[in-house]
Amino acid sequence: MVRLCVICNKERAIVKRPKTGQQVCRECFYYVFETEIHNTITDNKLFKKGDKVAIAASGGKDSTVFAYVMKLLNQRYQYGLDLFLLSIDEGITGYRDDSLETVKRNQQQYDLPLKIVSYSELYGWSMDQIVKEVGLKNNCTFCGVFRRQALDRGAVILDVDHIVTGHNADDIAETVLMNILRGDIARLPRCTEICTTGDGSIRRSKLFKYTYEKEIVMYAYFKKLDYFSTECIYSPNAYRGHVRTFIKDLESIRPSAIIDIIHSGEAFEIKEGVKLPVQGVCKRCGYMSSNELCKACMLLEGLNRGLPKLGIGKIFK
Ligand code: SF4
Ligand code: ZN
Ligand code: ZN
Repeated sequence: MVRLCVICNKERAIVKRPKTGQQVCRECFYYVFETEIHNTITDNKLFKKGDKVAIAASGGKDSTVFAYVMKLLNQRYQYGLDLFLLSIDEGITGYRDDSLETVKRNQQQYDLPLKIVSYSELYGWSMDQIVKEVGLKNNCTFCGVFRRQALDRGAVILDVDHIVTGHNADDIAETVLMNILRGDIARLPRCTEICTTGDGSIRRSKLFKYTYEKEIVMYAYFKKLDYFSTECIYSPNAYRGHVRTFIKDLESIRPSAIIDIIHSGEAFEIKEGVKLPVQGVCKRCGYMSSNELCKACMLLEGLNRGLPKLGIGKIFK
């Protein structure tokens, strides 16, 4: 018996939505996927007409789908946004150089201006050089701290009001769990916020906050989008990997686990008396920081003095 789409009741259902279990046709899948993101934007009043918005683009599936959907929604609902692609070149030979080629093709396909900023030009170190110094244990700490700042610096160069990133629901659930497992309660409220303010007044939003990774993969597959799917060659971030596997296992038993973890993270309240970091600016580079030196400057100090563990120790002591 042919099963009909539960939304339009006309077409044959060919997709079981990982997020809800609904059996839907292809067109209705596109429609609900896109509309959920549109609703996230409007419910949270994230943009106003004329905003300049940088889409963080890595060439991977999340950011490629994200750029495609942003462009489509901007036209369909006339948000009036000025969209840009902003890419970070971490300097990882055999990975980022290839994925940046995908971003350059996306630039042509979506007809959006592209700016690439590199770790080498910003920090004087590429990830290839950093890995030579620190090995494969703490490399992702360096890379994550540097990327956050690099995006803000790229946004300043582009003179945009807003950076939007393709972090999906699975990523956010992972971050909630990692913060709990590390006892890093101070970060919990911020990691589930849909919109935060980065350096200066540039806002940063995660519009895929409620979008499941599996649905992003399906969307990219059905739409035949051009994305890069190779893993970073320096990716053995064992701890996050275990958390990721744990969440995938939970999802296979109960798909709502991902959204439930996010909702739990949103509902956490920090009890009175817990000391939270006070935001100031880094005395060396002027970037926002709750210490005298920002994390990137601390890590750079360690690298430049030939003592890379120095920065790591200071951050996580
Ligand atoms: Fe950077 Fe680690 Fe991601 Fe590779 S896996 S891009 S080193 S954060
Ligand atoms: Zn349908
Ligand atoms: Zn600094």
